[in-house]
Amino acid sequence: MQAGSLMKRFAVALEQLTEEEKKEWLRVRDRIHLICSIASGLKIGVLVDAEETWIQDPVDVLTMQMMDEFNKTRVVVFNTIQLYRHDRFSFLKDSIEAAEQRGFVLGVKLVRGAYMEKERTRAEAGGYPSPIQADKASTDRDYNAAIHLCVEHIANVSFIVASHNENSNLLATELLDKKGLPHKHPHVHFSQLYGMSDNITFNLARAGCSVSKYLPFGPIRDVIPYLMRRAQENSSVAGQTGRELGLINKEITRRKKFNVQR
Ligand SMILES: Cc1cc2nc3c(=O)[nH]c(=O)nc-3n(C[C@H](O)[C@H](O)[C@H](O)COP(=O)(O)OP(=O)(O)OC[C@H]3O[C@@H](n4cnc5c(N)ncnc54)[C@H](O)[C@@H]3O)c2cc1C
Repeated sequence: MQAGSLMKRFAVALEQLTEEEKKEWLRVRDRIHLICSIASGLKIGVLVDAEETWIQDPVDVLTMQMMDEFNKTRVVVFNTIQLYRHDRFSFLKDSIEAAEQRGFVLGVKLVRGAYMEKERTRAEAGGYPSPIQADKASTDRDYNAAIHLCVEHIANVSFIVASHNENSNLLATELLDKKGLPHKHPHVHFSQLYGMSDNITFNLARAGCSVSKYLPFGPIRDVIPYLMRRAQENSSVAGQTGRELGLINKEITRRKKFNVQR
């Protein structure tokens, strides 16, 4: 969905809320505003995760509003774009346009998306078209196109390549090289989930990139479902876990051979 039409649709939805619901929305907005304002003062970032499509619109609206206020001189707030959604590449284009028109730097974390099965099942049960791309190749195409677009607009976009996909991470560094930009450009960051793909994280760090591990923490009731999703993802993503295990085994063999075990 386009950012402009998202704002209009949201304004209509807001009008339909009861007085109590409006108060609740304002409370949420005030809390988020407080978080962003403290983060801005401390010169740290606020990364807003993306969730299921049916709760994402208000998250996008709030995040855009916060970026409009806090991302003028430095980048504090980041939205998350899930490229497994077939409407998100055009949403990214539209968000960049909105940022350029309003004079703020767009902060985006680029992910493929974590709720594929849930989205497809719900769409089928509800009899509406699935918001998810038809296949993995289409997700990969849009993800890599998003990296291209962000590099093209790097003056107005600060982006995080949040992925365990070797090709996408490599593509980002190659595009920076092609444009003669440093790997540690202030508008580029890389991130992998804590406990996953250290082979990518360490190599990015060695190549001079700004890279971090994303560490979930919080109440057990929230963190356990999150970790369950990652475990399911690990077993369902063809090749990824196998590739990592293969690398670990190779390293164990290498260390044994050269007797460099600690
Ligand atoms: C730092 C960080 C932050 C993250 N934050 C979020 C977040 O806020 N919200 C969120 O939803 N996820 C988030 N994720 C998870 C992310 O969306 C992916 O699920 C995960 O990283 C796997 O994708 P990949 O790019 O690493 O690798 P890959 O292994 O190349 O891609 C796997 C992904 O491709 C997509 N895919 C797989 N099969 C198909 C298919 N048949 N058709 C269409 N698409 C398919 C799915 O999205 C799947 O997760 C985050 C990941 C990281 C590393």
